[in-house]
Amino acid sequence: AKRSAVNNCQVFEPQMAEEVNRLLQLESDIRSSFQDHQFIFYLQPLIDLHTRSLVGAEALIRWEHPLRGQVQPAEFISFLENSDMINPVGLQLLDDVCQFIRYHKEAGRFPVELRVAVNISERQLYDADFVGKCLSVLRKYKLPGSCLEFEITEGAALHNLDEVVDKMRKLQNEGITFALDDFGTGYSSLSYLKRLPVNKIKIDKSFIDDITIDPQDAAMVASIIAIAQNMNLIIVAEGVETDAQAQWLSQYDGILIQGYLFDRPLSPDIFAQNYLPELPG
Ligand code: C2E
Ligand code: CA
Ligand code: CA
Ligand code: CA
Repeated sequence: AKRSAVNNCQVFEPQMAEEVNRLLQLESDIRSSFQDHQFIFYLQPLIDLHTRSLVGAEALIRWEHPLRGQVQPAEFISFLENSDMINPVGLQLLDDVCQFIRYHKEAGRFPVELRVAVNISERQLYDADFVGKCLSVLRKYKLPGSCLEFEITEGAALHNLDEVVDKMRKLQNEGITFALDDFGTGYSSLSYLKRLPVNKIKIDKSFIDDITIDPQDAAMVASIIAIAQNMNLIIVAEGVETDAQAQWLSQYDGILIQGYLFDRPLSPDIFAQNYLPELPG
């Protein structure tokens, strides 16, 4: 056992150096790409399962790299979230989303009941002036909070729950709603559900994947739905890919779905083309 540990170590070391290099490169790349505005957002529609109508959209970050093409969040988001860069990048993304909403409102193509959801990471919530920054973006584009939703994970409230709850309430007073993202994947989802003033839960894709074939997963999703309904929370099933999953979920009332079955994340232009109707008046 000892010998194989040594062998592992020899194999591991160059890999570690490579990883360190990759991260250093990523860091300098990210700083310059932020200046060049290479971070953009895509929009994935959120659909009412029963009416099949659009009820919202989630903004998802993309990195338009001049050499590598479009880079997906899996490759850079945890790095971004673990550096201070998430604050300026997150704020710029919020600004871009609000600019998009303003543009389509002015064109009479953004329904009042529509919300765009933006992912907010832990470090953003700990910024002492997070609330002030969000409100000034809304003011800049003359928008009500009711066109936005913030998606947070329970990790976001791990360290200073009272402070986070206080900020959430201030933003809710302005009309912004909150969704608890990746529900069920953390180690204490229920206790956060009890303490965080959220309006919606998003059941993680990992629970949805096998609902039609794994009775345990089905039982868990059924229980999550029952809890959420008793708490008057809106329920989103994430990562719905098949008709069978949609069929299974449709035994419950009021479920919203987000997933490839309905549509993938789209560029804002394509999203507007396909989903934002010409409104009368
Ligand atoms: P998330 O917030 O849970 O977002 C949902 C992810 O699931 C998105 O991946 C979306 O494209 C993907 N997805 C949706 N439907 C399906 C489906 O039917 N099948 C499969 N296989 N995937 C589906 P994406 O865009 O790669 O984002 C990954 C994660 O990166 C997000 O997970 C979120 O945690 C993070 N992220 C994305 N944008 C932002 C952002 O602007 N700020 C922050 N802080 N995090 C972000
Ligand atoms: Ca999300
Ligand atoms: Ca999620
Ligand atoms: Ca996530």
